[in-house]
Amino acid sequence: MNNFIIEKERTLPVDYEPDVLVAGAGPAGIGAAVAAARNGAKVLLVERYGFMGGNLTLAMVNPMFTFHDIQGNQVIRGVAGEIVDRLVELTVSRGHVTDLTFDNASMTPFDPEGMKLLLFEMVEEAGVELLLHSTVVDAHTDGNKVSAVIVENKSGRQVIRPKMVIDCSADADIVARVGAPFVMGRESDGAMQPVTLFFRMADVDIPGLKAWMKENRDQLKDSPTDEEIDSSEAVAFLGLNKLVKEAMERGEFPAEAAPRILFYELPRRGQIAINTTRLQGIDGTNVRDLTRAEIATRKQAWQIHRFLKAHVGGFEDAYILDTGVQVGIRETRHIVGDYKMTEEDVLRGRSFEDGIACGTFAIDIHPPEGEQQVFTGSGKSVYEIPYRSLIPQGYDNLLVAGRSISATHAAFGSARVMATSVGIGQGAGTAAALAIKNGQSTREVDIKQVRRLLVEQGQYLHGEGVTSSIDPKLRLEKIGGSGAAASHHNPFQNQADKQQDDAGEDS
Ligand SMILES: Cc1cc2nc3c(=O)[nH]c(=O)nc-3n(C[C@H](O)[C@H](O)[C@H](O)COP(=O)(O)OP(=O)(O)OC[C@H]3O[C@@H](n4cnc5c(N)ncnc54)[C@H](O)[C@@H]3O)c2cc1C
Repeated sequence: MNNFIIEKERTLPVDYEPDVLVAGAGPAGIGAAVAAARNGAKVLLVERYGFMGGNLTLAMVNPMFTFHDIQGNQVIRGVAGEIVDRLVELTVSRGHVTDLTFDNASMTPFDPEGMKLLLFEMVEEAGVELLLHSTVVDAHTDGNKVSAVIVENKSGRQVIRPKMVIDCSADADIVARVGAPFVMGRESDGAMQPVTLFFRMADVDIPGLKAWMKENRDQLKDSPTDEEIDSSEAVAFLGLNKLVKEAMERGEFPAEAAPRILFYELPRRGQIAINTTRLQGIDGTNVRDLTRAEIATRKQAWQIHRFLKAHVGGFEDAYILDTGVQVGIRETRHIVGDYKMTEEDVLRGRSFEDGIACGTFAIDIHPPEGEQQVFTGSGKSVYEIPYRSLIPQGYDNLLVAGRSISATHAAFGSARVMATSVGIGQGAGTAAALAIKNGQSTREVDIKQVRRLLVEQGQYLHGEGVTSSIDPKLRLEKIGGSGAAASHHNPFQNQADKQQDDAGEDS
């Protein structure tokens, strides 16, 4: 007997004919769907889970990074900025607060349940049609066009025939299904950043934790001062490397986890999100690896929770509130697009004639092997993401937004974060809607007009032809003061200064 089967041929009716199909309702998919609908397109947003948000909700990733350059100027606005304003109105986020962990001016913690509610409201208001519990499983092509996308759900197998497709699945699933080129992970060897299962702990005694932090500041990155610990609107910390190492040697801390503790206080009293489990060598597009990762990281979460209760003040009565619906996958496929973003583009703060969103997070590479997380600052550099990085080679009605855009492993290390992903999505959605309005392909669309629309609709872009002024109302005085003045929070600032000076003519 053969060890394969041949599936039966089936005739499937076409169920949906949207202008724009957005596949995946993570940060990029939300930005894309809302922007395309607001610009007049009939949009279908497909998501495999029963709620939206991608890593914002399903992987429990917190906080959003980062909306501000190191001076505290808000350089990511648009749909992403609106999400934060509305989370604050809903009292499920305190908005942008000082980042005590990495070298950013701000971080933006939020309550994931509040996020789920808000995202439903936003897509509904924009007139997006939503199809939940539906996984994209296949796609058909006609020449250089994606002609149909197949989803599977409880109703069976359904056909979507869109004019334009925006692949926001994070793994570039549609790109892979239609055979457009992509690379996995790092260019030299395909290695990918490790996976992490986030978990939340509740009933943390925050005043007790702050007191403990003051007594043990030497264990924390940059030894924050009393003033910094007290002035921070949300406690966060990175460190405990020595205590963790000792616990690892005693077998009381998972050997494969990150060799440090990283966590963030959430808006609900006594809740924190922990970013410390870790498993290297996992391919997030391989189901055996995914299964192994779920089992290993869930075990790690319980060990880490026991470690915190035993060793860190304020955790005595704390417990695991929940874990991500699934392990968080940092990196898989990068498409081969019309332009590949590079590390230099990020560090030099480059603008592009076809820039459709900004990023300002430093290059953050959790190690595919070995121990050290490498955090190479842009710090103060603000760069643009070129539209060409969203266009997969070989197709004229397909765009990609989010973490799988065309970028090197290093450039991806910065552009991958959630605020930037929403911005990239907004750029893709705006371009797709305009292309449809004018009967054009993704490559024919008038990119100058896309940029004008983005700025008119609240996005910030720097570079020729659009405003470069920063609205003073959007400048975070407090954060600007803290981030920029407290240079130990930005060890790369000098390097970034130099790079900015060198960049001169580019930016
Ligand atoms: C452990 C971890 C920690 C991180 N820490 C931070 C942080 O602190 N701050 C920060 O800003 N960023 C952080 N990031 C990065 C950030 O979360 C991601 O890079 C970002 O979410 C990418 O957005 P996206 O929309 O491309 O993908 P995702 O957020 O992954 O969303 C993809 C969506 O597509 C859906 N989908 C996937 N495949 C299909 C399919 N075939 N059919 C239908 N739906 C599908 C998924 O269910 C999901 O909703 C972290 C990432 C990880 C994994």
